[in-house]
Amino acid sequence: MAEHLNIIENGISELTDDQLDTVVGGYGIGDTVTCSLTAIAYCPNCAALLKNFKATITGVRGVLKGETIYWVTYHCCGHKSSLIESDILR
Ligand SMILES: [Zn+2]
Repeated sequence: MAEHLNIIENGISELTDDQLDTVVGGYGIGDTVTCSLTAIAYCPNCAALLKNFKATITGVRGVLKGETIYWVTYHCCGHKSSLIESDILR
């Protein structure tokens, strides 16, 4: 989990308001999505396995390599984190 977040920290770009309008795309604030991280990981707060887990999108943090980084709240325990678009199951 820590490694996954560090990758996001290092390469992230913040967005202008105009860019925000174009990248939010198919997801909006308040949407509940099902996610699955590419690596095996556990919630840092409650240790739930982060596989096919539910989260609510609470904001857009920025963009990394063309993918949107969202702020989310995990449904397991309310833990707040950021999540890359490719970890959301379509
Ligand atoms: Zn949790």
